[in-house]
Amino acid sequence: MGNDRGKKVEISVVIPVKDEEKTIETLSEDIKSILSNRCYEVIFIDDGSRDRTFEVLKNVQRKNKYIKIIRFKKNFGKSDALSAGFGMARGEIIITMDGDLQDDPGEILKFIEKINEGWDVVVGWRYPRNDHMLKVIPSRIFNKLTSILTKVQIHDINCGFKAFRHEVVKDIRLYGELHRYLPVIVAMKGYSVTEIKVKHHKRVYGKSKFGTGRLIKGFIDLITVKFLMEYSKKPLHFFGSIGIVTFLSGVLINSYLVLLWFKGIKIGDRPLLMLGVLLVIIGIQFVSMGLLGEMIVSSYRSDEDYKIESITESITD
Ligand code: UDP
Ligand code: MG
Repeated sequence: MGNDRGKKVEISVVIPVKDEEKTIETLSEDIKSILSNRCYEVIFIDDGSRDRTFEVLKNVQRKNKYIKIIRFKKNFGKSDALSAGFGMARGEIIITMDGDLQDDPGEILKFIEKINEGWDVVVGWRYPRNDHMLKVIPSRIFNKLTSILTKVQIHDINCGFKAFRHEVVKDIRLYGELHRYLPVIVAMKGYSVTEIKVKHHKRVYGKSKFGTGRLIKGFIDLITVKFLMEYSKKPLHFFGSIGIVTFLSGVLINSYLVLLWFKGIKIGDRPLLMLGVLLVIIGIQFVSMGLLGEMIVSSYRSDEDYKIESITESITD
């Protein structure tokens, strides 16, 4: 059926693609046959492909009016691609999936069902996962680490296959490589998150765009997310506590040395003196960093940082 202008779009499927010329046609057809009796749109984001991806997309679009294409000027990465797709999506439910046919479009209905049960976000859990061991093992460790650190209990945090209620995607800002932690970011904002097992296929065409380099980047992003989660509104609590502990340890060491000095013992050549002075300086720096953080936060903080589920008033006269 596709969508007509002005009509309410039920489902938006957002698919970032980089160099996926071989899969787009099959993927579009599969999605079409699954969603044919609904009002939907499919938004492809061509993230700086160097193969014929854009031409293939144009060809597929000629036959199918429900397809929209956003073409980036260069490769900006999956987070930006998703972000652009989210900006354009009009559907009440928004599905994201990879464009390499590893995610099975047949599962889209399961996601919709789960959202209709009342969840704000549904995350896919590729089970069993059909990727190389070198990808699966680090990913397991990451998932475990993430769920311990963030307390968001999801098995496959980086699965590209997800579903969101409309308001959720309009409320998140993705950049860098933070798409990896989308479930954490939305949970942090108070939305309800659950997961469903989904079929996962081997990559038949093209290559994976994420190598082992993502291990380090992934870890750095985890620190970012953890920090944003806990301290983005109160940076002084984080830097301040480190600063005060460091500063006080320095003061303690230095007082001890001063005591020795009063007793007539020489302290000028003691490494402990260096440590004491260093700790005092570092402590002051940490506190100053926290204060700077507070200044930055207070200048961009908006009044709508919190989410209200509902307000109930009882009116008596
Ligand atoms: N992708 C993208 N921009 C990038 C890298 C990847 O849009 O810079 C797309 C890619 O085309 C695919 C999805 O993101 O549709 C997931 O990428 P990939 O399959 O390479 O990741 P993996 O499944 O190996 O984790
Ligand atoms: Mg893939």
